[in-house]
Amino acid sequence: MLRFAPSPTGDMHIGNLRVAIFNYIVAKQRNEKFLLRIEDTDKERNIEGKDKEIIELLKKFHIEYDNIVYQSQNLSFHQNFAKKLLEEKKAFACFCTKEELEKEKEKAKKEKRAYRYSGKCENITLDEALKRDEPFVVRIKKPKEIVEFEDILKGKMKFEPNDIDSFVILRANETPTYNFACAIDDMLYDISLIIRGEDHLSNTPKQIHIQKSLGYTKKIEYCHLPIILNQDGKKMSKRDRASSVKWLLKEGFLPEAIINYLILLGNKTPKEIFTLKEAIEWFDIKKLSKNSPKFDIDKLRFINRAHINLMDDKNLATLLGFNEEDIGKLAKIYLEEASTLKELKEKIDKIFAKREILEEFKKESEILKSFILKYRDIEDFNEFKKIVSNKSGLKGKRFFKPLRLLLTGSEHGPEISKIYPILRKYIKRIIK
Ligand code: GLU
Repeated sequence: MLRFAPSPTGDMHIGNLRVAIFNYIVAKQRNEKFLLRIEDTDKERNIEGKDKEIIELLKKFHIEYDNIVYQSQNLSFHQNFAKKLLEEKKAFACFCTKEELEKEKEKAKKEKRAYRYSGKCENITLDEALKRDEPFVVRIKKPKEIVEFEDILKGKMKFEPNDIDSFVILRANETPTYNFACAIDDMLYDISLIIRGEDHLSNTPKQIHIQKSLGYTKKIEYCHLPIILNQDGKKMSKRDRASSVKWLLKEGFLPEAIINYLILLGNKTPKEIFTLKEAIEWFDIKKLSKNSPKFDIDKLRFINRAHINLMDDKNLATLLGFNEEDIGKLAKIYLEEASTLKELKEKIDKIFAKREILEEFKKESEILKSFILKYRDIEDFNEFKKIVSNKSGLKGKRFFKPLRLLLTGSEHGPEISKIYPILRKYIKRIIK
């Protein structure tokens, strides 16, 4: 089984979505189940409603899962496994106060060395701990040997026991830490491959150590994805608006285009424009670049235009708030100068909005209006142009400028000859 394990602690980041897409694709390719696990054990960081948002987004992107679990539902497993480790002396109760630990961390910082737990509480027995009747956290004892694993992209990874350290697995309020809950649940759901961001790379040996301590022998495969960078070469953060999936959708990027772009990013694909379904046919996780890819919004805009162009005309019209297939066709012509649904909608809405005629062409506009209405049955633009120009006596700029303004509401836009055959059908709605 593969899984996507988001935390309901903020807006979904494109990095998370990329992780979801890859896990979904590989699950499909391997014919394995795909689990959505909402990692909600850190109650203080959870944000109300973010779980629902994740579920809705996955639906929008057609990323279907076989099962959903809220990690907090497994609390008793987490607590029981912590107890087992305590009883087997593989973990210990730690009474060190926050202040004490802070002091040690400060000291390590001053001495320019990495902080490591002092080992102070390591020998407190479980009986002693329970007798003290004080709150304590549970720490797993650091491993005795190097922990190693094979990463699909990074190759062999090795971690020293001291770097893994004796870390907290259960908080004083008896809730599991991220590493503990994650390691237990991956075990419980028989996860075979974990694809996630490389920011979790240092968590992996901890999770392997937890599983080994519990006697789990199955080797899980790992693939840690390079972090997506912004144009300045920095990790994409909340400050980069395009890092938020919600923002991209609001701006009018199609889910199909976002998926296409995120699969293309830092990858070698047989083609540039494709669907998720097609990607399942040829996607090869091993081919992903080991280097961090740079997010390029212009490339995403290009891909978005391609996907809008592939859309059914009627569906496109609906997304823009219209019913007619022709509006979809018209919008596709406007793709020459717009890349998102939002931009297209602005253009199309302008055509149907109240006209602001330039003072300079007021008189010409009035004359043209009646002729446009009169000859709107002429399908061919050249013929229409010839007759209206002849009859109105207007030529050149004094003909074309007011004509464009009357027909489109803008001074600039695609060639009138291209859009006229469609606009013609809506003349009464356009010229009021
Ligand atoms: N909740 C973690 C995250 O959102 C999950 C990481 C993992 O896949 O294990 O980053």
